[in-house]
Amino acid sequence: MMQQKLNIVPFVSVDHMMKLVLAVGVETFLTELAGYIEDDFRRWELFDKTPRVASHSHDGVIELMPTSDGKLYGFKYVNGHPKNTHEGLQTVTAFGVLADVGSGYPMLLTEMTILTALRTAAMSAVAAKHLAPKGARTMAIIGNGAQSEFQAIAFTALTGVDRLRLYDIDSSASRKCAKNLAGMGFDITVCATGQEAVEGAEIITTVTADKQYATILTDNMVGPGVHINAVGGDCPGKTELHRDILLRSDIFVEFPPQTRIEGEIQQLAADHPVTELWQVIAGKAEGRKTARQITLFDSVGFAIEDFSALRYVRDKLRDTGLFEELDLLADPDEPRDLFGMLLRAQAAGAATAAAG
Ligand code: NAD
Repeated sequence: MMQQKLNIVPFVSVDHMMKLVLAVGVETFLTELAGYIEDDFRRWELFDKTPRVASHSHDGVIELMPTSDGKLYGFKYVNGHPKNTHEGLQTVTAFGVLADVGSGYPMLLTEMTILTALRTAAMSAVAAKHLAPKGARTMAIIGNGAQSEFQAIAFTALTGVDRLRLYDIDSSASRKCAKNLAGMGFDITVCATGQEAVEGAEIITTVTADKQYATILTDNMVGPGVHINAVGGDCPGKTELHRDILLRSDIFVEFPPQTRIEGEIQQLAADHPVTELWQVIAGKAEGRKTARQITLFDSVGFAIEDFSALRYVRDKLRDTGLFEELDLLADPDEPRDLFGMLLRAQAAGAATAAAG
């Protein structure tokens, strides 16, 4: 653990996060972060867990995502506003805090917009390691916005995917995605329809943003043996898959009480069987059993993944120094003399003014 003065909190800005990711390397970052997520999923039972606290509005949602392992506490603030890109804003932005449970003092404040894209992609690829058909190389990505390149790189780093079939209702998003991924070893096909994108794909990632019950995949688009990585349906009334696909799939989820509210399975009965992904990672439940089985990772994003990401970033800061020191906590010499600290600051200010 990095030593820190108790009143100074390390702050990772967007600029520092970009430098950190580039210094580590995107693939290495995703691979190491996936390791942290797997470690935390293996000790899932000891975490304090709750569905995230969501404040819904006409155009989007603002959510708080807390969790603790008893030693560390983490939370993320994140929004989801699909209309934002039309106004030049991000659909998803985030920041987060890691704190020491013993003292309650924050230990890290960091941007999490980039970090969320990385952790979501790492989580998807971890799920696919256990659920996708063995040796799968071709992935369709439907929805080619902010998350898409991260998904592609995580899948190549962790599962060996090297052929991409891209589709977006806005073809400029697909062109952007293909351009950003050029030279990274992918064979990329930009497709004119979702139907064309899924042809020959062993893995289908849906990562669109639309505040409605959308039908990005219809039942006829999903053949036997496919793994679906459904990322974009993550709010009440915001889904991507036709219900019939769910009825043919073996469904894997993060935290069922949250996924029942937010995931694709909000379309199903409350007792429809699902498998908790942590059990697969911990070796307590089976992932893919047969070659013809359709597996579905109904991703909504859970607080423990952000906790893992916060832990990972904090561990990386020691070696890189890529943070600023934030004067976030009042820390009077005598802890109960908070007001006295204010008076001393006033006196010091007056003395400086008199001297000047
Ligand atoms: P974004 O707005 O940058 O990109 C979304 C893309 O989807 C856009 O390019 C848009 O044109 C495209 N799209 C919308 N409707 C479509 C349709 N019917 N067919 C094909 N393409 C369509 O958003 P983003 O940051 O990439 O996020 C994508 C989705 O992932 C959002 O819904 C977001 O809430 C969700 N998300 C989920 C997690 C998770 O952990 N599960 C994490 C982050 C984001």
